[in-house]
Amino acid sequence: QIDSDGGIDYMFKIVLIGDSGVGKSQLLHRFVKNEFNLKSKSTIGVEFLTKTIVMDHKIVKAQIWDTAGQERYQAITTAYYRGAIGALLAYDITKRRSFDHVEKWLEELRMHADKNIAIMLVGNKSDLTAREVPTEFAKEFAEQQDLFFIETSALNSSNVESAFHGLLSQVYENVI
Ligand code: GDP
Ligand code: MG
Repeated sequence: QIDSDGGIDYMFKIVLIGDSGVGKSQLLHRFVKNEFNLKSKSTIGVEFLTKTIVMDHKIVKAQIWDTAGQERYQAITTAYYRGAIGALLAYDITKRRSFDHVEKWLEELRMHADKNIAIMLVGNKSDLTAREVPTEFAKEFAEQQDLFFIETSALNSSNVESAFHGLLSQVYENVI
């Protein structure tokens, strides 16, 4: 990770959305700090974390916004979405309900975000065995909706890098 603010070629605002409890905050911490907070409250009170990566020989700073739990009350404000060019939409593979709500989140994005926003659908908690959402089912849905799709585990790190990098490279493709 490059820490200086100088020489940034691109700054991308990314938003995390999805039902409360699906692991958004843990995914963010795993990606940015390579940490999983064992005693995490349902939210970690930050507005965003940044991570700088090199992509196609360019320095890209991702500013990744996390909710402070407002999603529980469907109270995410328009300011949250403003300027976002990528969204990581997460559900919990062990909670069918959180997958059923993905359409509602897509609707929310259509209403408040840029219409060209890149979206990565993420089935999190792949380390758990009590699965309620089959991979194939989610994959098919993602194809129909023209979304990128991956299953992750913030707990054991599986695919977390790929999820964010996949999203960021799609955002990059869209802006260059
Ligand atoms: P958020 O409300 O979407 O931000 O969800 P959190 O990141 O706060 O996580 C909600 C709960 O799920 C916490 O108890 C986490 O420890 C747990 N959790 C998050 N990611 C994973 C994961 O990949 N695997 C497992 N087993 N638990 C997870
Ligand atoms: Mg959270």
